[in-house]
Amino acid sequence: KSEKPSREVKTVCPYCGVGCGIYLGIRGNRIVSARGDPKNPVNNGRLCVKGRFALNFVNSIERLEKPLIKEDGEFKEVEWDEAISFIADKLSKYNGDEFAAIASAKCTNEENYLLQKFTRTVMKSNNIDHCARLCHAPSLVALKESLGSGAMTNSINELKKSACILAIGTNTTETHPVIAYKIIEAVKNGSKLIVVNPTRIELVRHADIYLRNKPGTDVPLILGMCKAILEEDLIDHEFIKERTEGFESFREYLSGLEWDEIELLTGISHDDIREAGILYASSPTASIIYAMGITQHVNGTDNVFALSNLALLTGNVGRVNTGINPLRGQNNVQGSSDMGALPDMYPGYQSIDNHREKFEKKWNCKLPTEKGIILPEIFENACKGKIKALYIMGENPILSEPDIKSVEEALKNIEFLIVQDIFPSETSKFADVILPACSFAEKDGTFTNTERRVQLIRSAIRPPGDAKPDWWIISKIAKKMGAAGFEFENPREIFNEIREVVPSYSGISYKRLESEGIQWPCRSEEDPGSTFLYKDGFTRENGRAKFILPSLKLFETPDKDYPFMLITGRSLYQYHTRTMTSKVRGLEKFKDWKFLEMNPVDGERLGVREGDFVLVKSRRGAVKAKVKFNEALMEGVAFMSFHFALVNCLTSSVRDPLSGMPALKVSCVDLIPQ
Ligand code: SF4
Repeated sequence: KSEKPSREVKTVCPYCGVGCGIYLGIRGNRIVSARGDPKNPVNNGRLCVKGRFALNFVNSIERLEKPLIKEDGEFKEVEWDEAISFIADKLSKYNGDEFAAIASAKCTNEENYLLQKFTRTVMKSNNIDHCARLCHAPSLVALKESLGSGAMTNSINELKKSACILAIGTNTTETHPVIAYKIIEAVKNGSKLIVVNPTRIELVRHADIYLRNKPGTDVPLILGMCKAILEEDLIDHEFIKERTEGFESFREYLSGLEWDEIELLTGISHDDIREAGILYASSPTASIIYAMGITQHVNGTDNVFALSNLALLTGNVGRVNTGINPLRGQNNVQGSSDMGALPDMYPGYQSIDNHREKFEKKWNCKLPTEKGIILPEIFENACKGKIKALYIMGENPILSEPDIKSVEEALKNIEFLIVQDIFPSETSKFADVILPACSFAEKDGTFTNTERRVQLIRSAIRPPGDAKPDWWIISKIAKKMGAAGFEFENPREIFNEIREVVPSYSGISYKRLESEGIQWPCRSEEDPGSTFLYKDGFTRENGRAKFILPSLKLFETPDKDYPFMLITGRSLYQYHTRTMTSKVRGLEKFKDWKFLEMNPVDGERLGVREGDFVLVKSRRGAVKAKVKFNEALMEGVAFMSFHFALVNCLTSSVRDPLSGMPALKVSCVDLIPQ
């Protein structure tokens, strides 16, 4: 029975990167309802099922309420003073390169800033990374190199006015529903939509052109579109001449590509690719949106280079209603990157090679000179005994990392593991200390959404038991270890320090955020923020954007031992490793996610029916799954959501050499009827 709230608190949805504004309805000390904030420009009052019905995980009786220390294999409850002293004492025994920290896209900007500051200034290590390594690291690398910044170039609302939208490698209705709604609205108002996806996703129903390429073949497909645009002379000559470099090499590279090869690799005809290229290039404004279908590959960075080339070729960047728009998965993955939870960059993407002196002065200490290691290397080095102490804030890597058997081995091998979270998790079983943290509804702070919009979140209820905000916990540990620079009384004070060191945040203040979020870069109190980037030039050193030649190399292709391609993805009704959504009763009624989906033709060939079990076996491992037929899938392609525990037994930790992204999206598997 639904309860009526006695008051409402304005905040931001804690799930996906859209960052919808929400009013939480509170009764007593519980969330009893949620409604979209009609004045929030991101969602204008709309919410998807998770924002509307899946926030009462906060009220769950399974929440962590007390710090826990493991003794003789059992966790015992302790007071904060004891937990903090224990941690400070243990951590003081490790050298910088023996320590690593994993920050969290579910925590606030202030908390991510503090964890990286703690890692660098107290532990003297640059070994800090976060889940962007598993989602948009290729965007960060490729867009920084080609344009100057790794962020979404334009804004969500500009999609509504874009004459043509290319949605590639994104199942937007499932993963960013409120953005999907805006795309559908745009189509109704006359925008053209091109969808590129191996699966006939929901958005295809609204598309003018649908290209169903073989999984993992986005580079040849995008280059095919570029080749057609060149052949038709639909390129933006003036833009290329005035604002870019590297065009001639790109032209030469494209002329060396044969249409036969493109057709063979992608499985799409020359005519269809050409038609899509012409539609994109001849539209007065064209936007690209993409997600993990582009990035989670061994050639993820090449995929993004290819998209950047497509936009540059046609002058569709640096203008309103255009752009290259990576859709961030988690609510604060943009902010975690902005805050320097990265092994090679300080806050504001300032490289540790060129900005060390600035930060040493600001933080008043010597900083480590060596670049840190990336997320998968943290686990590899733990297996080798090189990482001995690990601090995990709000993440569940035992399910989210590829090749999880080796992650388990790494966690067992770590001498001192701190896990800080709101629930016990599959990962926290391996911890030496578990620290109870506050949820989004129990603390103040800021999140930065996928379109660079910094928004305030507000404490709406008291935390359960002795749970504390992550920033409070980190500050306590740092101070106990004798560090200066952690004397913060509240998140506002931390944010004020962020403004001093991150130029693109310098004009944003809590006071300004009270009324509405602000999109960075925002460099002064008078600056309204930036709805789109590069209006006055690209932010590369010479002010020009660069065409970069992507490689055509593919990763695993099916063979006689592993004849199926398995795609992983997420469902609208669940979220990542389900630490939060598994506590929300009723979500599974909307759509069950515990299946291996395959085309019925493949089912017939294998002799399996819906509901039968198959063993899904890759070169890394095997899991058993129930079969469900889905005609939207291509023959020879299967799908499992990554909410499915242990799906990452199957995926590979082979990495994109440029961004460190593992091959999470596509793996070759065999399906063995049981
Ligand atoms: Fe939350 Fe994303 Fe749904 Fe908006 S679209 S309500 S941010 S999960």
